[in-house]
Amino acid sequence: MVKLEDYQPIIGSERVEAIRELAAPLQGSVVQHINSAAVGGGVAEILKRLVPLMEDVGLVPRWDVLRGTDEFFFITKTFHNAFHGLPVEINEFMFDTYREVSRQNFDLVDAAADFVILHDQQPLGLAEIRPDHLGHWIWYCHIDPVDVDRRLWNFLRDYAARCDVAIYHLPEYVKELGSRVHVTPPAIDPLSEKNRDVPEEERCAILARLGVPDDLPLVVQVSRFDRLKDPVGVIRSFKLVREQVPCRLVLAGGGAGDDPEGIQVLQEVRREADGDPGIMVLELAPTADLEINVLQRSAAVVVQKSVREGFGLTVTEAMWKGRPVVASPVGGIRIQVLHEETGLAASGDQAVAEAVVRLLKDPELAAFIGRSAQEMVRRNFIMPVYLERWIGMLAAMMPGVAC
Ligand code: UDP
Repeated sequence: MVKLEDYQPIIGSERVEAIRELAAPLQGSVVQHINSAAVGGGVAEILKRLVPLMEDVGLVPRWDVLRGTDEFFFITKTFHNAFHGLPVEINEFMFDTYREVSRQNFDLVDAAADFVILHDQQPLGLAEIRPDHLGHWIWYCHIDPVDVDRRLWNFLRDYAARCDVAIYHLPEYVKELGSRVHVTPPAIDPLSEKNRDVPEEERCAILARLGVPDDLPLVVQVSRFDRLKDPVGVIRSFKLVREQVPCRLVLAGGGAGDDPEGIQVLQEVRREADGDPGIMVLELAPTADLEINVLQRSAAVVVQKSVREGFGLTVTEAMWKGRPVVASPVGGIRIQVLHEETGLAASGDQAVAEAVVRLLKDPELAAFIGRSAQEMVRRNFIMPVYLERWIGMLAAMMPGVAC
C-alpha cells in the first residue's frame, strides 16, 4: 500500500511532514467519495490513488460507485454531452429516471460520513437526502460546465446547491450556486503503474506484446473512444503528417463503465483507419495501466485532439514522462500546455498535423518541451500536492480548525 513517505524523493521530506501535520485535525474523519465508474476515465483514475493516500494520512476514506441501469448511464452520458454544449435532446423522462435511480441509491450514502463527495453529475441526485444527513457535502465538477444546456442545469443546480462546497478544475468553470467554491486542478500519481519509470527491456517487451513495431516514430493518443476526444480527427491529422515524415499512429483506449457510446465510436475509428497498416487501433482492458505507460513513454509525440476536456489527465501523464504533447487548447489543457514551452497548442486537423511534424523534425525542441512539461507536472499536478490541497479544503470545512 502506498505511503506518503514514498513521495519523499519527489517532493522532499519537509513537504511530507507538512502534509502529515496539516492532516492531524482530520484524524479519523470518514470521507466518502461517490462516483459512477470503478474503472475508465479520469475520476476513477484519481480515486484509485487518492483514497489509499487519504487513508495513509489518518483519514477514513471510502469509495462507492453508483448502481445504475443501462438506461441511466445512457441518460447521464447524454447529460455529459449536454454539459459540454453538444446539441442533444433533454426531456422530462430523463429527469424522472435520474431521480428514480438516485433514490434507489440513497442507501449508498454512509450515515456516519463526515464528508460526502459527489463526483460529477451522475451521483448528484443523492444530494436530495441532504437535509437528513449531518456531514459536509461537496460537489466535485470534473468537467467543463461553461456551455451546459440551460434546461439540464436548471434541473441539476438544485441538487448542486444542496452541497456546502463546489470544486472545479478552473476558475472559469465556477457556477453561481451560493455555496463555497474551491478551485483545484487534479493530479496524476507518479508512482502508479501508469506513470512509474519503466526499464528499457520491460518497455520493449510490452511494446512487442502489444504488437507495436518501433521501427518508426510513434504518434500516440490514449483516450476513451469518445467523440469529444476526436479520435477520427487524429487519424485525419496523422495522414497529413505521414505525407511529410514517416511515422506510425497508435490510438489506444478502452471503455468506461458509465460510457455506453464507446463501441459506436470505436467502429467509426476503425472505418476511418480502413485497415491502414500504419494506424494501430488498440482496445485496452481497464487494467492496462502499464501498457498505457509504455505507449505514452514510447511516443515521439503524444496527441490530445479533444474538442472538450475537463482537465485532460492523459496530457498530464504524457508530460510527466517528458514527452512533447500536441493538444487542442480546450478546458484544463490550457493550463497544462503552454504553447512552445510545455507543449504545442493546436486546433484543427491541419494545425495539429503541422505541430506534430514540427516536433518530429526538431528533436531539440521536442526535448526542451518534454523537460519543461515534466517539471510543470512535478510542481503542480502530482498526487501528494493534490492530497495537500484536499486536506486543506476538508480542514477548512471543519468547525474550529484554522487554516
Ligand atoms: N484511461 C485508461 N484506459 C483507457 C483510456 C483512458 O486507463 O483506455 C485513463 C487515462 O490514462 C487517464 C484517464 O483514463 O488517466 C482519462 O482521464 P482524462 O482526464 O484524460 O479524460 P476523461 O476520460 O476523464 O474524459
